[in-house]
This record gives sequence, structure tokens and C-alpha cells, in this order.
Amino acid sequence: MVIATVNPATGQTLRTFEPYTPAAVEQRLARAVQTFAQYRLTDFGRRAQLMHRAAELLDADQETVARLMTTEMGKPLTAARAEAAKCAKAMRWYADRAPALLADEHPAAADVADAGASRAWVRYRPLGVVLAVMPWNFPLWQCVRFAAPALMAGNVGLLKHASNVPQTALYLEDLFRGAGFPDGCFQTLLIESRAVEGVLRDPRVAAATLTGSEGAGRAVAAVAGDEVKKTVLELGGSDAFVVLPSADVAAAARTAVTARVQNNGQSCIAAKRFIVHEQVYEEFRAAFVGAMAALRIGDPMDEATQVGPLATQQGREELGELVADALALGARVECELDVPGGLGDGWWYPPTVLSGIEPAMRIHHEEAFGPVATLYRATDLDHALELANDTPFGLSSNVWTTEETEQERFVRDIQAGGVFFNGMTASHPALPFGGVRRSGYGRELSGHGIREFCNVTTVWEA
Ligand code: NAP
Repeated sequence: MVIATVNPATGQTLRTFEPYTPAAVEQRLARAVQTFAQYRLTDFGRRAQLMHRAAELLDADQETVARLMTTEMGKPLTAARAEAAKCAKAMRWYADRAPALLADEHPAAADVADAGASRAWVRYRPLGVVLAVMPWNFPLWQCVRFAAPALMAGNVGLLKHASNVPQTALYLEDLFRGAGFPDGCFQTLLIESRAVEGVLRDPRVAAATLTGSEGAGRAVAAVAGDEVKKTVLELGGSDAFVVLPSADVAAAARTAVTARVQNNGQSCIAAKRFIVHEQVYEEFRAAFVGAMAALRIGDPMDEATQVGPLATQQGREELGELVADALALGARVECELDVPGGLGDGWWYPPTVLSGIEPAMRIHHEEAFGPVATLYRATDLDHALELANDTPFGLSSNVWTTEETEQERFVRDIQAGGVFFNGMTASHPALPFGGVRRSGYGRELSGHGIREFCNVTTVWEA
């Protein structure tokens, strides 16, 4: 893919970038290593000062960077502003919490004695240069949720961002440098995906984190495995949204719409499969389809727009193929909005609800990365759980029930990295984020996230 800003609302190429030459990549790698040698010795107070400054700068830049994100990948401007604000919040969260999250750990005195030590403790030390391979869908947030904890832990980062968000990628480098982080703490590499392997194999790179598709995750993890380097993978998802009879069905239907179409339907944690108990199926279906049909599609720069274009032409083609396959195999269209005329030659895709989904359909087991919902009718709790788990993914899940025993069943049996009751999945700095199965491994955010790229060091004295 060419490294370029192409406005998804118009299809117009606005700026193209030459990939960095091997010499330019080498220069940045060398700078990262040099910087790490000094930066790892800074204390939490200094790092927090810089991180707070970065948050302030980001708040001040909010409108500009929100417009940049919307221009590069088409998310509604209102959502882009919220993304920038959330990034600043996460920066402050880690700036304030890192000392406690990475404080030395002291085992119980009896265990220390049993280990034959007069004293023993655990120290969290940084790993070094971490390569971050990131997607376009939350072009700021995905990077900041890596960078804020990684920098607070004393690591330095190299960012290989998706090829369609180069200006956001460069903005991030400027942001951290502008905040006073030493040059080399956070650098963007404008490189194509085929150049990732060379960087990852470089002995100066300690570890990698990738957020993106399963294919990209597999490719990067294979190289990292070969090099015995730590990875965190945040991959795709096809989260279930389960509605059981005790639910507030009207609230569930309203939330279901947001959960499906947030970010123009291109979110890993978007609810994608709606599994509804037959007792409330009709009520939910009518409310959900009605609300999906009332969505406002339009120019993402327009404040009133709820659904903008998909980010790439390829993404629109892939989604269209998934829907065509389901229809050919007998799926029913519950609602398919018309894309209003006069919107320009962008990559619009109408919010759509399909029912009558069968396991033979690709959409049953693949991720629909756009505003397409699939509706399932469940006969009882066991059936709902079985359908929810009938996917190769396991990122998060949403379950609507007020019955404690039903909630406990899901906490025990759902094969996912999260279960959100009577609401929709959302990330928060204090809560671990990540999946199981084909959704990846490792966790971001919270204390779990900041410790992923640490050398958990045992210190023991006789
Ligand atoms: P993608 O095509 O996998 O791209 C993600 C990143 O990986 C980009 O920087 C891309 O670079 C790079 N890449 C692609 N193939 C690669 C390879 N073979 N080797 C090395 N790097 C490679 O994914 P996307 O289309 O941007 O994002 C959508 C996917 O991300 C969805 O599946 C979504 O669910 C997932 N996602 C997951 C999470 C999560 O937290 N679990 C969050 C957001 C998105 P180029 O752009 O240059 O190809």
C-alpha cells in the first residue's frame, strides 16, 4: 500500500509520502538505542512531567488533530475529538499511576526466608526499544495506549503506523518531542509493511506490539517468535451482544446501534453479532432495526453525522463480499439504508442488519469491519452462550441481563477477554484490554498493560 493521505469521503489523494530509505530507518534505530541508554535512568517524576506536558499539548491541538484523523480515515469529527480527549486522559492516568503500578514488589517475609534469602524483591525494569505496528481505525488512541505506559516504564518506541494515516503518525512524533521527551523516545517510521520484518529482526529492537488484523498479527508474531522477542497482539473481534429476557430491551436496542456503528462500524470491540432470546427477539429486532434505519449518514466533518464512509476502498469491497456471500446463502435483509445522494465518491457503506445467519456463511465466523449487524434468535441461555462462543475470536462481549446467576454463567463461560453487562464494551485506562483465541494475546492498559514491556527482575540476597 502506498503511504498516503486519501480522504475516504471523496476518494481524493491529498498527500503522498516516500517510504524512509534503509539509511533513514537505521538513523532512527540508532537514535532510539542511544536515547534509551539515558532515558531509562530518568525517574518517574521526570517522565510524568513530560507526559503531562504531552497531554496539555494534545488538548490544545484537539481540533486540529481531530480534523486530521477525520480527513485521513473518515471517522465522524465528533468521535475524533473524543478520541483525542481520551488519549490525553490516558497519558495523565499513566503519568500519575506509573510509580505505584511499577513499584518494587516484596513477597511475604516467610516466603523470602523459605527462598533462602535475607531479602528478595521484584523490580520492573524497561525492556528497551519497542516496535509498535498500529492500525488506522483509532489512529491516535491505539498508539497512545501503547506509548503512554511504554514511555512511563522507561522504554522507547518506534511507530510503524498504517499506511493511510501518515500525517497522524508524524503528528504523534512531533507531540512527544514537543512535550520535551528526548529525540528518540518516540519516533515514527514511514515504512511499508514489508519493511517491518527487517526492523523487528534487528537485535536492537527488544519487543513488538501489533494492533491490527489476524494476518498482520500472524506475520509479525512469526518473525518475533523466530527472534525470541516478546509480543503483544491486539487483533480482530466479532463480539457478541446478548439480550436476555430480564433486559431493558429499549435501552439494549439503543446501545446496540452505537455499539455496532461506532467509528463507522470499524472497531475491534464493536458488537457485531446480536444474539437475542426468543422471548424478547421481536421487541428488540423492531427497536434495533428502527434505530439503525434512522441513522444519519453523511460527511464526517459535519457535526450531525453519525456514520461516515469506510476508511479504505479495499475495506468496502471486503465488507460487500461478506454481505453478498451471506445473501447468496439465504440471509435476510432486515434493513439496509440508502446512502444519500450528493455525498461524493467516497467509500460509503449503508448501515445494514441481516438475519437468518447460518454457520456456512462467512459472516458467521469472519469479522464484519463496517456497519453491518447480524441478528440471531436464541432459544435459551445455553443456546445464547453457545452462539456467543461460536466464533474464532474472543475479544470482548456485551450481555444484557439483570439476573445474577445468568451474569455469573457468562463470567464463567464466555470465551473472551471481557464481559460488559447492560452496557457496551469500551476501553478505559484502569481496565485491562485484550483478547483470547484469534483476537490475540497480552493486555494493554491498566497495570497489566504497563508491565507487558518490562523485565520483571528478581532480586535476591543470601
Ligand atoms: P492491518 O491491515 O492488519 O494493518 C495493521 C497494521 O499492520 C498496519 O500498520 C499495517 O501496515 C501493518 N501490517 C499489515 N500487514 C503486515 C505484515 N504482513 N507485516 C507487518 N505489518 C503489517 O489492519 P487494519 O486494516 O489497519 O485494521 C483493522 C483490523 O485491526 C481489524 O481486524 C480490527 O479488528 C483490528 N483491530 C484490533 C484492535 C484490538 O485492540 N484488538 C484494535 C483496533 C483494530 P500497512 O497499513 O502499511 O499495511
